[in-house]
Amino acid sequence: MKLIYKSLSYLFKSSTKEECHKILINSNFYYEGLSQNKKETFLVRTLIFRFRTNFDSKPDFILTQKMKTIISSAFAQITFGLNMHTLSKFNHVFVTPSSYAYKHNNVLLDGDVNLRTKRVNMSWPTVKKGFEINDDALNLAIHEFGHCLIFENTARSYLSRIFKESAFEKWKKHAHLKYLKIKNKENVVLRDYAGSNLIELFSVSLETFFEKPHHFYDNEPELFLSMVILLNQDPRNKPNPLELK
Ligand SMILES: [Zn+2]
Repeated sequence: MKLIYKSLSYLFKSSTKEECHKILINSNFYYEGLSQNKKETFLVRTLIFRFRTNFDSKPDFILTQKMKTIISSAFAQITFGLNMHTLSKFNHVFVTPSSYAYKHNNVLLDGDVNLRTKRVNMSWPTVKKGFEINDDALNLAIHEFGHCLIFENTARSYLSRIFKESAFEKWKKHAHLKYLKIKNKENVVLRDYAGSNLIELFSVSLETFFEKPHHFYDNEPELFLSMVILLNQDPRNKPNPLELK
């Protein structure tokens, strides 16, 4: 474990880390596959996110530590290879007990990132299902945090961007080619919702990247590898995704 995580680990009580481990080992497939050393780093990163994020729900819905931990683990997962531990603009996560709709709009949603309120909304049953079924390339928490990464990356100044500019440009090039394939109905890997726009394509790619990495690589190697570089991790290497081949 890197020295920084060793030091940060002391900030959390042993009982908190133990509780977090028990939740993750039973609910996060990515965590389960990590080496012991990487599990410890992941645990610290999950707890940093959990403690520094403003979680909230309606008063009649009890938001448990378990729910917060599982949601936080999605963020730790997608940023495991990045020098980023929390969201700064979108650090308010609102969890709902079921699908919801905005006023004056009948469309039911399971999750969205609201650019006006800077709030990330997620329906708990869909978050839970996303982790319970870990090989269908559907994971709501990963999807919504994917949007947050893109929005925060765009809002930051050139020197403090989340993604390296060259890696992001390369990803955009391959993403655009994939977008055209989806439009031409030549898509085999990503669900067609990725064809909505490049922002959705990024989030859908993330879900597939983590839940079907081999299938993704076998069918779209260039797009997959551009994501490996962008996120600085390769989930095909389960014990240590940070070791890039
Ligand atoms: Zn989306």
